[in-house]
Amino acid sequence: MVTNQQQVGVLALQGDVREHLQMLESVGVVAKKVKSAQDLNKLDGLVIPGGESTTISMLSQRAGLIEPIREFIKSDKAVYGSCAGMIMLADRVVDTRTDQETFGGLDITVKRNAFGRQVDSFEKIISLKDIGVDQFNAVFIRAPWVEKIGAGVQVLAQLAGAAGEKRIVMVRQGKLIATSFHPELTGDNRIHKYFVSLL
Ligand code: GLN
Repeated sequence: MVTNQQQVGVLALQGDVREHLQMLESVGVVAKKVKSAQDLNKLDGLVIPGGESTTISMLSQRAGLIEPIREFIKSDKAVYGSCAGMIMLADRVVDTRTDQETFGGLDITVKRNAFGRQVDSFEKIISLKDIGVDQFNAVFIRAPWVEKIGAGVQVLAQLAGAAGEKRIVMVRQGKLIATSFHPELTGDNRIHKYFVSLL
């Protein structure tokens, strides 16, 4: 039987690559590791995993992947970044190293480690009603938040801070999506399902 399954890559330089590969397989696409520019060929979409964004940035520079991934994003492919991946997709980052390059593409300003350090990791039930998900257990680990969004960016989830202030934790702009949290760690594949619907 000839299958025509879609193929989605996971940038596999550092971070929780295996968890994203498993989630993608669970929603019916072929999932592939991306370690070099050639690995981007024939992909319908790409995931930038959680991990450490300064390390992912440095390893992407070494692998010659910064420009090829920028081109991939510009070619209107679907791309999803979780946590460190959100940082890598942001056009602007605050509280980071001056030598950190991002892929960009999302017209947002992201604040790194905004929710505090490792000890401040937490879980929270959030509502993603714009994508038809009522309750989602979101895991935040040294998570960023989105400080500012450009005109074309849609907010898909927010958290209320201690004083009731709104913190943006999920956004979409065209075929690009990003979450501050890690759906790949919870076994709940509804965000991956939504992502794959954008391919
Ligand atoms: N704080 C990390 C960074 O700056 C992101 C953490 C994560 O991906 N869990 O990249």
